[in-house]
Amino acid sequence: MTPSALCPSLYNEYVAGTLDEGLALILAAYLAQDEYCAVARAQARACERVAGALLDHMCAPVDMKDGSLQNVLARLDEDCAAACADVAPVTLRDGVTLPAPLAAFMAGRPLRWRGVGGGSRMAVLPAPSCGTHIMVLDIAPGRAMPAHRHDGIELTLVLRGAYHDTDDYFTAGQISCHAPGTSHRPVADAQDGCICISAVSGMVFAGFFPRLFSRFLMTR
Ligand code: ZN
Repeated sequence: MTPSALCPSLYNEYVAGTLDEGLALILAAYLAQDEYCAVARAQARACERVAGALLDHMCAPVDMKDGSLQNVLARLDEDCAAACADVAPVTLRDGVTLPAPLAAFMAGRPLRWRGVGGGSRMAVLPAPSCGTHIMVLDIAPGRAMPAHRHDGIELTLVLRGAYHDTDDYFTAGQISCHAPGTSHRPVADAQDGCICISAVSGMVFAGFFPRLFSRFLMTR
């Protein structure tokens, strides 16, 4: 399953309240961005088209309340604003802040940064759910994450810069979803590096440095 095909199912689980809490925090951070409103509007319009097509094929006409779609869109805007309100910003570096849902989750607890070599660093957040880690990664330009495989889903939101992952390139504001069983070695953009937040479960590393890296996950 490709990352783009995996995301819609995660979104549905998120809406239903059944998504793993760690993954839900990353998705909430993504949805709290301005882009969320655009994505949600596109989804609402798609739903509207599907509903219209269904109504066209029904035997009896069904009335819809005037302004139903407008009400949905207004509600989405309110949700966007509520997600970012009344949360003290947590600065990561150079004006980059932790997205509001994660800042709210931290509830004033400081991030514990650890160097991981080559000018890169990471902070592991307290685990919101068993087996899932949330990491804030500040990867220096051109540096690679250790090659790894994970048995669960990996969800990563880029906050600044970008990273390459096989044939994909993710920039600030974009989210990547990797299915269980994915093996990869993300590489930060050669010029801008990459600051991102990632929820992962069941990471398996190979080699000395990766094992050292994984120890940071266990000793947060
Ligand atoms: Zn991964």
